[in-house]
Amino acid sequence: MTTQDVRDKAHIEALANELGAHLIYDATNTGGNDGPRAQIELREVHLRPSVVDYWAALHELGHIATTELDARKIAYQYGLLGVQTVIDEARAWQWALDNANRPPDAAAKADIAISMASYFYSHATIPVADPTVAHLIRLVGPNPAIDENLDEYSRPYRDVAHDIWTRANALAGAV
Ligand SMILES: [Zn+2]
Repeated sequence: MTTQDVRDKAHIEALANELGAHLIYDATNTGGNDGPRAQIELREVHLRPSVVDYWAALHELGHIATTELDARKIAYQYGLLGVQTVIDEARAWQWALDNANRPPDAAAKADIAISMASYFYSHATIPVADPTVAHLIRLVGPNPAIDENLDEYSRPYRDVAHDIWTRANALAGAV
């Protein structure tokens, strides 16, 4: 591990402590979507064992800190879970940005764009009326380094990510 990895890991552990979250290094990301993830009810964050994926870890801690299970239940009841899920993603990213020990670099901004674009796509909504969603889109801007930062699982969605991110910028610019 580099010096920055050691510092990042310590920072993630300190934030997890503050939140009463339990870090579990078991996410392998082989053959499916079992990469970094939060289990909010259990206050668990599952991370990959061998790499310090600082922004992904911050994002998952952001779910522990910000995702309201009651709000999700109500959204589900009224058929609004898709929109709520996208807003929850944006809030977890915003928490990551607010708690990071450095500003987001181009790779971190691309991660945010790829992640948010995939949620916009899968839930067929770009809820720019939500201030956090609109803020994130404007913060990342219209030309994130998507191609350089797609992992192998996201690569098939390259064109979709570009198109949706362009559309999101057009919408966020209009509100
Ligand atoms: Zn998330």
